[in-house]
Amino acid sequence: MSDDGKRVLIAGGGPVGLLCAWLLGRRGIPVTLFDENTGPQADPRAATTHPATLEVLAADGLAADMARVGLVAPIFQFWDRPSGELVAEFDHAVLKHDTRFPHVVQCEQFKTARLILERLRGLANVELRFGHTVTGVAQREDGVTVSVHDGRGTTQHSGAWLVGADGGRSAVRKECNIEFEGFTWPERFIVLTTPYDFEAERGLCYRSYFADIGAWCNCFKVSAAGPPGLWRTVYPVDPAQSDDEVMSDDGVQARIQSFFPAPRPYEIVHRNIYVTHQRVAARFRKGRVLLAGDAAHVNNPIGGMGLNGGIQDAANLSDKLAQVVLDGAPERLLDLYDRQRRTVAVEFVQEQSIANKKRLEAREPGARRRNLDELRAIAADPERARQFLLRTSMIASQRRADSMTLEDV
Ligand SMILES: Cc1cc2nc3c(=O)[nH]c(=O)nc-3n(C[C@H](O)[C@H](O)[C@H](O)COP(=O)(O)OP(=O)(O)OC[C@H]3O[C@@H](n4cnc5c(N)ncnc54)[C@H](O)[C@@H]3O)c2cc1C
Repeated sequence: MSDDGKRVLIAGGGPVGLLCAWLLGRRGIPVTLFDENTGPQADPRAATTHPATLEVLAADGLAADMARVGLVAPIFQFWDRPSGELVAEFDHAVLKHDTRFPHVVQCEQFKTARLILERLRGLANVELRFGHTVTGVAQREDGVTVSVHDGRGTTQHSGAWLVGADGGRSAVRKECNIEFEGFTWPERFIVLTTPYDFEAERGLCYRSYFADIGAWCNCFKVSAAGPPGLWRTVYPVDPAQSDDEVMSDDGVQARIQSFFPAPRPYEIVHRNIYVTHQRVAARFRKGRVLLAGDAAHVNNPIGGMGLNGGIQDAANLSDKLAQVVLDGAPERLLDLYDRQRRTVAVEFVQEQSIANKKRLEAREPGARRRNLDELRAIAADPERARQFLLRTSMIASQRRADSMTLEDV
């Protein structure tokens, strides 16, 4: 069999595409990865890595390396902004019999990508082509060809399989006419990053969620360039406000002060505003094309599940593709990938991330009280707290995926 008879093409060199390249490449499979950027990106995006994801990243010490360059956070808190009350605190220690990792690791996604790139450098069978944009996809019964533009011209590249890990606007998904079902939130989200020490000054832990009337804030710490680290705060933005107004110095100070009043202006080292969607691809497999990560599903960041789901896709898919390519396993295994990961995206990640947002932003006083009372009651009951954490840490969704077999497809 020629190399192309085994080669896996990957569109997208974000964390999901890079992880697929490493997990396939380390098994000896020839891989070509294309990314339209000229190199890995360093913009601040996802950071929270849940226990279920640390489990799949444990091989070759990747989870341990992430903890080394990130922050270990066993606890998260819910606060009520209007009253200033700490409503509930959850400790992952209740999961000590469910996982080897009873904590999350706050590791910025560009650091995770860098750790994977370091590992990829040792693999001669993996070719990384940055500055290459995938513009077309054509399938045959026994292979797939992509058209790739590199700024000078368009070339064709063939392989046995194509992984579309090219993000939320996935060209691969669009080329394959796969619907991206769901909706877009009317409000944008703004991220403000500051060196202000919320732990020392306000007693927050590394992951704190604030409920407000029609609003919310996620406040979490990242290690950034090393101690003392930075704090990221995320808020919803009124659709009636312009980007210029929201992103102005006055606008960002007004927003952060509304949650965390302080006598002096905050130092803001990074600000970013973005549109957020809740969408899942109608299918994750179409013939020889497989979608993973944001190309397959996107959600709001409350609960930090987006990239975690993408990493879990990459691990699940790479294992199955390796069985098909190397061991001659039936291609139906890839339908099982579709079934497992799409079910998890719909039943867990979409449902949970939407519920997280609604719980924090409830306006009606009775609903607010019920939401906060329920969090208090769950935190006070160890078994309910464990069940709650099994979902938030994405262990329950992994167990749901593991419960499915080839007989389900
Ligand atoms: C501003 C912002 C903030 C975020 N904050 C959070 C957060 O706090 N928590 C959280 O869980 N998630 C967050 N997310 C989502 C999280 O970043 C994504 O879930 C994660 O990046 C998904 O990884 P990925 O590899 O699937 O896709 P991406 O990281 O988007 O990578 C896709 C890659 O594909 C490349 N590409 C795109 N099109 C093509 C093409 N045609 N050909 C070749 N290459 C292509 C891109 O250059 C990119 O490198 C945020 C996203 C954004 C945009």
